[in-house]
Amino acid sequence: MNPPNFTYSGLLFAAGLICLLVALLIWQMRRPAKGAITLVVLLLALSWWDITYAIFWANLPGPSPHFWLDITYLGAVTVPTCLLIFALQLNSLENWINRTLFVTLSLEPLLVTLALWTDPWHNLFFGGQRELNAGMILSGGPVFWGNLVYSYVLILMAFILFVRSFLSSAGLYRRQFATILLGMGFTWLNSIIFVLGLSPLPGADNTPFSFTITALFFAHAIFRYRFLDIVPIARSMLVDNMSDGIVVLDAHNRLVDMNPIAQNLLTQAQIGDPLEKIQGRLPKSIRQLHNESNMRAEIALSDPVRYLDFRISPILDKRQQSLGRLIVWRDITELKLLQIELNELATRDMLTHAYNRRHFEKLAQVEWARSTRFKHSMAIVLLDIDHFKNVNDTQGHQAGDHVLAEFAKLCEQAKRNQDLFARWGGEEFIFLLPETQGEQALQFARRLCEIIYQTPINGEGYLATITCSLGVAASTTAHDSLEAMFRRADHALYEAKSTGRNRAVLWEGETQQSAP
Ligand code: GH3
Ligand code: MG
Ligand code: MG
Repeated sequence: MNPPNFTYSGLLFAAGLICLLVALLIWQMRRPAKGAITLVVLLLALSWWDITYAIFWANLPGPSPHFWLDITYLGAVTVPTCLLIFALQLNSLENWINRTLFVTLSLEPLLVTLALWTDPWHNLFFGGQRELNAGMILSGGPVFWGNLVYSYVLILMAFILFVRSFLSSAGLYRRQFATILLGMGFTWLNSIIFVLGLSPLPGADNTPFSFTITALFFAHAIFRYRFLDIVPIARSMLVDNMSDGIVVLDAHNRLVDMNPIAQNLLTQAQIGDPLEKIQGRLPKSIRQLHNESNMRAEIALSDPVRYLDFRISPILDKRQQSLGRLIVWRDITELKLLQIELNELATRDMLTHAYNRRHFEKLAQVEWARSTRFKHSMAIVLLDIDHFKNVNDTQGHQAGDHVLAEFAKLCEQAKRNQDLFARWGGEEFIFLLPETQGEQALQFARRLCEIIYQTPINGEGYLATITCSLGVAASTTAHDSLEAMFRRADHALYEAKSTGRNRAVLWEGETQQSAP
């Protein structure tokens, strides 16, 4: 046995522990970041490689003479594979990462490990050149060389991918890819040192060291993705536990940060994703985010019904240069539903759910202003149920209420979409017909009168045949007012009542038209 080399062993142990620690930090703090999980696996593989190699240099006894060196290979074969997957992820080529790729990439490491562990039977790995206690092998059989070439091909592919993203990115991302390339540089440097025979650790393999440095550069790049980092704990308490959804986009419209609430809405979105990729998961009404830097909108989502107060604000640096955008939304569903309910209470009659008189008068004012401005005519139809007292007297007030509610539904169905309908008071109702002449309104009133007469109304098991009288008035162009029109409709209604009920009357000054 060689004497133990505690310098090597100590350095390797330290490298392995650093890898473990960084893997843990990434897992805890940056797990959602693009490539983070792969980097954690890469760091664990490196840590394995470093620590088992450290044990070898510490000369600790193993179950077999080459045991500690043999198991270092588990780490060594995993690292190039992880490197390539990490490169694909950071290049937004996740669609390449599928089961076939995994199986293909697992094949070589498995075969190599198998060949290594069964080498005494076939010599395919070491080619019969293995020396006991050598800390590094410089030559071997076909599997050794095959694995060397294969690993370098993977590393080269990853390197090319990183160069590609470095060239196509800008700003913060360019700096991040520069960090990654710098890290990759250590892998190449190691090979050059090795080829030139300049190794600082004679007799030892520097590769796990160089990969450890590479991976630490990667970890740095991953942490740098969060340019909005305040103190991490303060950030996680503030942002992660907020009930508001928070998304940060950088100047190149890439997702740089989001909190768990935002992640719920943007399922599967990852840090680093371009806006186009996450846009599909946003509500339709806010997809046009490309140029909006300052916006506030209330968004209604269906299924389940939710209301969001959505804001976009710019993030500017000290020189007022745009760093990106902050998107924040708050769920205002409860507030909104309450508002809708209050609005209903303020505008609708509770028994019939038709508009109440106050709201109708407000809407009528608006319609009146519009019709006078555009010189359009409008009409009013006032309706009073005939002998309604009888319903109450014979069937009770509750049945009377029910009849009123059903009656309102019938009226609601009979009107056109653009017409307004309201409960005027008691058993009186009113219609406003925009863009309608007196004659047309009279026709509508007659039709309604007929429908009501023909349709028995259900009053909680009792069928009421109802008739009503209707007074119709239309706007006249000169010196008219809404109040005057209401008065004319009232006169017409009185006329309908006094000339026999179950009829509609159009008030046209003294020459009113009546129809049974
Ligand atoms: P006509 O209009 O044909 O002259 O006869 P009428 O019996 O309808 O007479 P009037 O307009 O004077 O009376 C309206 C009745 O409608 C009186 C009131 O008890 C009843 N009424 C008003 N509001 C309600 C209500 O909310 N529920 C019930 N059940 N009845 C109501
Ligand atoms: Mg009546
Ligand atoms: Mg009445």
